[in-house]
Amino acid sequence: MDAPFTDRVANIAPEGAYRVMAKAQELEAQGKEILHLEIGQPDFPTFPPICEAGKEAIDQGYTRYNPSAGYGDLREKIAHIRSEQGYPTAASQVVIGPGAKPGLVFPILAIAQAGDEILYPDPGFPTYRSSIELASATPVPVPLVEENSFSFDLEALERRITSRTKLLILNSPANPTGGIIPQSDLDAIASISRQHGFWILSDEIYSRLIYDLKQLPSIASHADLQNRLIIVDGFSKTYAMTGWRLGHAIMPEALAEKVELLLMHSIGCTAGFTQKAGLAALDKTDDYVEEVVNEYRTRRNRFIDGLNRLEGVDCKKPDGAFYAFPNVSKLGIPSDILANRLLEEAGIACLSGKDFGPGGEGYLRFSYATGQNTLDRCIDALGEFISRI
Ligand code: PLP
Repeated sequence: MDAPFTDRVANIAPEGAYRVMAKAQELEAQGKEILHLEIGQPDFPTFPPICEAGKEAIDQGYTRYNPSAGYGDLREKIAHIRSEQGYPTAASQVVIGPGAKPGLVFPILAIAQAGDEILYPDPGFPTYRSSIELASATPVPVPLVEENSFSFDLEALERRITSRTKLLILNSPANPTGGIIPQSDLDAIASISRQHGFWILSDEIYSRLIYDLKQLPSIASHADLQNRLIIVDGFSKTYAMTGWRLGHAIMPEALAEKVELLLMHSIGCTAGFTQKAGLAALDKTDDYVEEVVNEYRTRRNRFIDGLNRLEGVDCKKPDGAFYAFPNVSKLGIPSDILANRLLEEAGIACLSGKDFGPGGEGYLRFSYATGQNTLDRCIDALGEFISRI
């Protein structure tokens, strides 16, 4: 009998982080000690003003159905902040969803279909490829280049553009590399997009987690591209709100109306108390964000230095997000096998670069959104493992 499923889901793959976390927990249940560096989740609790606002909102009755695109006050607040940053935005362009993921999946479903080609970073966040497949469009990976601080090779990007190219996905700061696309590359990408007329979706969920720059360069600085630009952002990473499920995307109003309908018929709406908590995150937590960014910077510096002291490991200093993406190709072990051996033999849970696409071969991904003690022990355990092999 033929498989009962559609082509749309035939190749859909799980996220490596969830797979490795489940395996690590199994090993823990058998009594093994595991250092968790696999999942991209802040180890800080959600900041107190956010929790207070969420609890208050539950007491006030924000527990019911609400508008599918989100409450007006939150949409307006986000539009106001964007406009103040120099990117004029109307509330009608902002769509709220449960996490940043709906801001990836639904706009792609609304603009792409079979026959359309979508370019996306390789290595890149796995939901990009899955969303493209869900839309029955053709995924076209574009390699990220370590020597370019993990930005694209722009010539390789241009070579992949055809008359069917519908959309280019950008992610800066990036998961899994921590790389930031420099303004000069964004300018070149903008001019390529002008020439060929494709959409751009820029996933900026790590926009506030930057360590050396004052402001993140954004493709949104090219205002003339607004009518085919989608900016995705969210609350999960910056405000330690992964489980609250809150994110947003900014897009042309006509697309926002379609995405609202897709939300209406799938998710319905985003929890009201979560949205009220999100409003407090935007209003009241700048000091907390500054503190955690400083902490991530300290961890980054120490962890990357530690990695680079190990034989066979070369790690570029990531500019943002909270991931280290060391090149381990000199160890001579395929990344999948290496990540698995590290889990089983050294008690280190990390991801193979290949969990993010073929371009990740030769790399591992570690999340440093975890305590300093775990990070230090990880370096020691890695060193011991490398001296044994
Ligand atoms: N985009 C990127 C690049 C991510 O790394 C993640 C989560 O890991 C997301 C989007 C999804 O975020 P959320 O949990 O808010 O849906």
